[in-house]
Amino acid sequence: MDPKQNLLRKLPAISVILEQVRIKDLGSHCPHVLISEAASETVQGIREAILAVEQDGKEAADRNTITNLDQITALDTIVDLVVKKVHEKTGPNLRKVINATGIVLHTNLGRAVLAAPAVKAINEVAANYSNLELDLATGERGTRYAHIEELVCRLTGAEAGMVVNNNAAAVLLVLNTLAKDREVIVSRGQLVEIGGSFRIPDVMTQSGAVLVEVGTTNKTHLRDYENAVTENTALLLKVHTSNYRVIGFTAEVSSGELAALGRKQGLAVYEDLGSGVLVDFAEYGISHEPTVRESIKAGIDIVTCSGDKLFGGPQAGIIVGRKYIIDKIKQNPLTRALRVDKFTLAAMEATLRLYFDEEKAVAGIPTLRMIMMQPEEIRSRAENLQKLFRERAGNGVDTEIIAGFSQVGGGALPEENLPTFLVSVRPKSLSVNTLEKRFRELEPPVLARIQKDRLLFDPRTLLENDDEIIAANMKRIMEMG
Ligand SMILES: *Cc1c(COP(=O)(O)O)cnc(C)c1O
Repeated sequence: MDPKQNLLRKLPAISVILEQVRIKDLGSHCPHVLISEAASETVQGIREAILAVEQDGKEAADRNTITNLDQITALDTIVDLVVKKVHEKTGPNLRKVINATGIVLHTNLGRAVLAAPAVKAINEVAANYSNLELDLATGERGTRYAHIEELVCRLTGAEAGMVVNNNAAAVLLVLNTLAKDREVIVSRGQLVEIGGSFRIPDVMTQSGAVLVEVGTTNKTHLRDYENAVTENTALLLKVHTSNYRVIGFTAEVSSGELAALGRKQGLAVYEDLGSGVLVDFAEYGISHEPTVRESIKAGIDIVTCSGDKLFGGPQAGIIVGRKYIIDKIKQNPLTRALRVDKFTLAAMEATLRLYFDEEKAVAGIPTLRMIMMQPEEIRSRAENLQKLFRERAGNGVDTEIIAGFSQVGGGALPEENLPTFLVSVRPKSLSVNTLEKRFRELEPPVLARIQKDRLLFDPRTLLENDDEIIAANMKRIMEMG
């Protein structure tokens, strides 16, 4: 008889699967329709796999596959698959993953991890009513921006400030508010593209402002800006090339020089810092990254930066500068469309408060702590993870500790290679690609880096207890075979 027909005949009826105790148990906490859907899909998937086996010319290989499929028609195996499918259907799509890549601000993994007080603040306003737009002193209507304005001003030295949805929104708002139908002068070397679809020239078009490019890719001088000023100029713009560097024969006009030119010509000067920071990275042995305070001090009128890059807070765009400009932005109808919600405000306020004590900020804001982590600390964590692998994975893998580099990510500090120690794992019975995939598909998923036939785990981006979870996943993978 045709082996395929034989296998198909062995497949249990859906009703039989639904009668199994483990499947019935699922019914107590998830809808019946989901369970029968999962059972039908599982059986259908196996049926298709059986039918897909080619017969002519590939007999040896086929026999192999058929044996595997033979196992898969066992009722117990099918029940396993159905249970797994039900969990997939009922579990959250957006969920925690473990980042063992060593890329601190990993755009695909949600950029900045929030500090504990920020998480607590979100919980508090989520589960309760809050004074989001109420002035408790007067009992009158207040504004949501009031909760962070004073804090951000004290930390940056600016006159006024607010936050919006993200920095892309902040750039759009500033340009639209100050330069709609007017000219904005910017250096050719600063027409950046930030991952995805954010390009300065395109945002400029959307804002209604007219781009006037000056200088060349590698060099722009103060006179280039000066010569381009017309009666239709609204703004001088400086964009921090946060995600790339122009090196070699280069010249850029400093924030201070541009601010002075703005004052002389009666023009507002705007600086988009991208990943603006509030602490001096150079003091921690990392390349200097311009701080928001420096720009304000240099006389820049309006500064924008991201909330979830090097600042280490929630997704947001921070806008600080002259009060008359911030007032105008608050009046812009677009601001309502780009406003932040109460969770963002709660997390932003809590993160800002940490910055009042720099020691606390550096220790308590995960982004800063990870970037500034000392190699000795990383090495001891790597040694611990290696020990756990040896205990849990038996002889299934070869492990060693190697020196390497982590990255800041998120388009910030592109040249900075942070020295680290990696746990390098070479699986013996499976390919490195299979090992990587299994780690990615287990709960919680673990993301690590493949290098040749090794899987690399960088302790820099691991959070508390992650080591234990990774080791437990390793054990499960080794048991799967
Ligand atoms: C990242 C970045 C942006 C966009 O910020 P988001 O918070 O991602 O919207 C804008 N400008 C510069 C220079 C950047 O580096």
